Amino acid sequence: MNKEVRKCQNCEQDFTIEPEDFQFYEKIKVPLPTRCPECRLQRRLSFRNERVLHHRECNLCEKMIISVFHPSKDNVVYCQQCWWSDKWDPLSYGKDYDFNKPFFKQYKELSKAVPRVGLINANSVNSEYTHLAADNKDCYMLFESSNNERCNHSYWMQVSKDCLDCSFVNNSELCYEVFVAWKCYKLFFSKECRDCTESYFLQDCVGLSNCYGCVGLRNKQYHIFNQPYSKEEYLKILEEKKAQIQQGNIEVLVREFKDFALKNINKYAHIQKSVNSTGNYLLNTKNCLYCFHGYDAENCKYGYHVWRNSKDNMDVSTVGRDAEMVYETINTGINVYNIKFGIQLWGSNSDIFYSESCQGSSNLFGCISLHNENYCILNKQYTKEEYEELIKKIIEHMKSTKEYGEFFPTEVSLFSYNETSANDHFALSKENALKKGFKWKNQDEKVVKPTLIQNKMISVDDSVLGEIIECSHQDKCDDKCTAGFKIIKEELQFYKKMNLPLPRLCPNCRHYQRLKQRNPLKLWQRKCQCAGEKSENKIYQNIAKHKDHTKDQPCPNQFQTSYAPDRPEIVYCESCYQNEVV
Ligand SMILES: [Zn+2]
Ligand SMILES: [Zn+2]
Ligand SMILES: [Zn+2]
Ligand SMILES: [Zn+2]
Ligand SMILES: [Zn+2]
Repeated sequence: MNKEVRKCQNCEQDFTIEPEDFQFYEKIKVPLPTRCPECRLQRRLSFRNERVLHHRECNLCEKMIISVFHPSKDNVVYCQQCWWSDKWDPLSYGKDYDFNKPFFKQYKELSKAVPRVGLINANSVNSEYTHLAADNKDCYMLFESSNNERCNHSYWMQVSKDCLDCSFVNNSELCYEVFVAWKCYKLFFSKECRDCTESYFLQDCVGLSNCYGCVGLRNKQYHIFNQPYSKEEYLKILEEKKAQIQQGNIEVLVREFKDFALKNINKYAHIQKSVNSTGNYLLNTKNCLYCFHGYDAENCKYGYHVWRNSKDNMDVSTVGRDAEMVYETINTGINVYNIKFGIQLWGSNSDIFYSESCQGSSNLFGCISLHNENYCILNKQYTKEEYEELIKKIIEHMKSTKEYGEFFPTEVSLFSYNETSANDHFALSKENALKKGFKWKNQDEKVVKPTLIQNKMISVDDSVLGEIIECSHQDKCDDKCTAGFKIIKEELQFYKKMNLPLPRLCPNCRHYQRLKQRNPLKLWQRKCQCAGEKSENKIYQNIAKHKDHTKDQPCPNQFQTSYAPDRPEIVYCESCYQNEVV
């Protein structure tokens, strides 16, 4: 099979279906996609609210609960206790399939009626404000995270303790403003580090301790801006830097570090111990293409968060813990097999089409909130024979209405575009979102009136608790800014213990500032920027001999990278990078 270039039916850009893609579509028996990978991702993510929480009533026990569903929406929402109980029967919402109506219309009606669970935070202790989370203790505003203790205002944290304002951090402790890290301790304002301790402003470092402002170093201590210092000199300079941090001059230090980082080289992608894989932030992957944030995965494509034994999956956003043959889903994993077009299908599911929030089930088509059921269509029970006969007809019907092979259309989503992670990756103005058929929620109600205005430093003491601090974000009209914010007690203790000033931005703005450090979920074919030793105007001077080319020749290697060609960073191929960074 040759590759085929198609025009996306949504954005009208060309996209390519590769020979191996045909094999996959053949294997799982779905028609070829009509949208490009990006439009597919955007549509999927418009069903995923990760971080916007609301207070509302449980529609069964009528208690006030925290939920990702806004109270003004007319769908039914239960608290976790009610939803998981046998006080209600999801099969009682069952409907006959109507061959005179499009499937998605029927699904939408069912979707409005069947109760959803307000939040997902399994086995959590004192962590009410966490979502898509499990096994956390004493955590607040923590999302997509598991097995953490005392981690606040953070995103995608695993097995970490006492961290604040971090994203994508694993097995770490006492970290602050860290983006992508493994096994770090007392690390501040840093990104893409492993095994680093007691350090500030590091990027792409491994095994550092007591360092400040370093890029691409391995196993060093007492270094400042990649230069060695004696312990005494280091501590003296660090005291000055820490005083600046305490005075709230962090922006100056951030800028200083950014300028330094731009003079250093970057590896084309953060890919380690992986074979034939493209994307970014990959570890221990094999044949994973166009994947971002993945580890222990094989034969996956267009994946975002693919992890822990994820195999033969395509177009998946958060999939793992033994997940195989999964296509066009969000939040699907923990022993799942053969899932097509699904939302939140956690735990021992197999052979499922177009379904949402089901567990322990198999052979479902268009079902919502079922636990341990088999052979159901639109929440109605059938025998195995009836089911098999009927889904053949339904697939034919859906082919005739051009629905089969497409993920749910965005109008089925229970969220507004600006509540979902689609807006994080594909930011749209209200006007544009509405024009493209997405829903939009006005933020007015979220904006709170500050009681403390940030024209001077606000002291780090208990008097600040209960106050509403003004967010100093420049663009107050930014939809994501909450304008004012509170400091929680645990957070204040952290600032005191770590000698940090109070933040100047609201937690939301802080989150998005951190996400800005990440390259887009997109790849460009580029050439290694290592020009050898002869090039003029070089910002970075090679220090080593390069294996792949002579010193008076530029490197011929090419790669796929998430660094767009017009970006200022110096991007090297694996080989040149390895020659320089040891
Ligand atoms: Zn497109
Ligand atoms: Zn309830
Ligand atoms: Zn803000
Ligand atoms: Zn190179
Ligand atoms: Zn080179």
